[in-house]
Amino acid sequence: MMNARADVSDVPVYVVVGGGRAGASAVAAMREANFSGRILLVGAEPYPPYERPPLSKEMLVKPEAAQLTIYPETYYADKNIECLFGGSVVRLDSAAHRLTLASGEEFTFDKLLLATGARARAYPLLDQLGERVFTLRTRDDSERLRSALTPGCRLLVVGGGIIGLEVAASAIALGATVTVIERADRLMARGTPDPLVDILRRLHVEKGVRFELGVTLNGASCSNNGDVLLRAEDGRPFIGDLVVYGIGVELNTELAVSAGLHVENGIVVDEYGRTSRPEIYAAGDAVRQWNPATRHHQRFETWANAQSQGAAVGRSMVTGEPCSMDVPWYWTDQYGHNFQVAGSHEASEWLHRNTGEGFKSTMLGLVDDVVVGAVTIDNGREMRPIRTMIANRFKVTDRALLADPRVDLRKLVECGR
Ligand code: FAD
Ligand code: NDP
Repeated sequence: MMNARADVSDVPVYVVVGGGRAGASAVAAMREANFSGRILLVGAEPYPPYERPPLSKEMLVKPEAAQLTIYPETYYADKNIECLFGGSVVRLDSAAHRLTLASGEEFTFDKLLLATGARARAYPLLDQLGERVFTLRTRDDSERLRSALTPGCRLLVVGGGIIGLEVAASAIALGATVTVIERADRLMARGTPDPLVDILRRLHVEKGVRFELGVTLNGASCSNNGDVLLRAEDGRPFIGDLVVYGIGVELNTELAVSAGLHVENGIVVDEYGRTSRPEIYAAGDAVRQWNPATRHHQRFETWANAQSQGAAVGRSMVTGEPCSMDVPWYWTDQYGHNFQVAGSHEASEWLHRNTGEGFKSTMLGLVDDVVVGAVTIDNGREMRPIRTMIANRFKVTDRALLADPRVDLRKLVECGR
């Protein structure tokens, strides 16, 4: 294994821990910013960084069409980025600038970026079902689930969040029967606007998904005939062949905590991406970043945030420039439809732009006539001008004009109406 000791090579060494979206974007940005020192990318998974969004979508339904690659393997060698995949960092000594791998090997750094992301939150009640139970975070998880999802199989999905719904849609496409069991009284309880939740719920029901909301489980077992039996607190049984659960994530912040960094619902960083130790930076799902525009620390579990924050912090480590924060944005694909969500979901009013062409439409979320959030359905081309509207706090003066789907939002943004 390489020796990354700055004192040996006499050039600065930047180490990135975490080979996910944020880590990959960061190392690329460091080279783009003309960093000429050594870069070491360490990832616990045995693969070069790959995209997670296809894991619950194409990888399950049409694996041959799934595009997982972020950068081809040759990219890292071409950019002189040293890689260590399949190696977990288990100790961070922030005072000595030293990292220790699970193998016991140690190396030092001049600057460090923690891009350690998150893992699926464990549900011990269900984990005892052994081979019949699945979570979905990694490529290995997705391959394992794909081989178990066969036509006619009875799938019990626990958790009506975004993983639950994407897996339900993919399983229906593969010919499974699906029951989604959710503890709350509504689906997608976090970060999804109400009108979109309603649309998704109707769509899933039309496709045959059964929803069981407001259900808390208190029993799980496998019967002699091979059925899985989940039992609700009120005694109701749910019988199936397989269980997938998606009940949120746990952040991989253990290294940061053990090194004494400030961690509070994520690794807390300033607008440069610096932790409470200025030579240690952090980016991605595990991070709560200072946003000078809102004057709050904010944490997002989205691809777009991992990509742009990873790149911004990687650049900042080289140039010392602050990181700007984009309007939050994510998408989900279900049943061949594309849903995109931006900004705040807490609008007091939703203005609809219905095209009359199938699902294709846009909803703009308003608070006091200001555009604060949006949803597009099969209409992603409107997202870019809308994100500009949200960033600029676009004030609506002519509702009829804005609701007309023939009106080009880019032109409205340009003239500020
Ligand atoms: P991660 O992707 O979690 O990567 C962190 C990496 O660090 C992991 O590989 C981990 O093994 C490694 N690591 C952790 N600790 C250590 C250590 N001590 N030593 C070495 N390595 C370590 N977002 C969207 O916006 N749209 C989507 O459609 C979408 N679909 C998704 C589908 C699935 C199935 C999943 C799981 C997520 C999806 N997301 C989606 C969310 C998006 O993928 C994540 O927000 C993004 O991957 C976060 O990137 P990250 O680099 O911060 O963390
Ligand atoms: P979410 O937080 O989206 O949803 C988890 C859901 O499970 C919540 O509704 C939660 O309810 C519910 N829940 C929690 N505990 C229980 C329980 N004991 N029984 C039943 N329901 C329960 O997390 P996911 O697991 O869906 O997603 C994990 C990660 O993957 C997230 O970071 C997400 O961003 C990412 N992802 C993103 C996608 C996208 O953007 N398209 C697609 C797939 C994954 P409550 O809130 O009440 O706890």
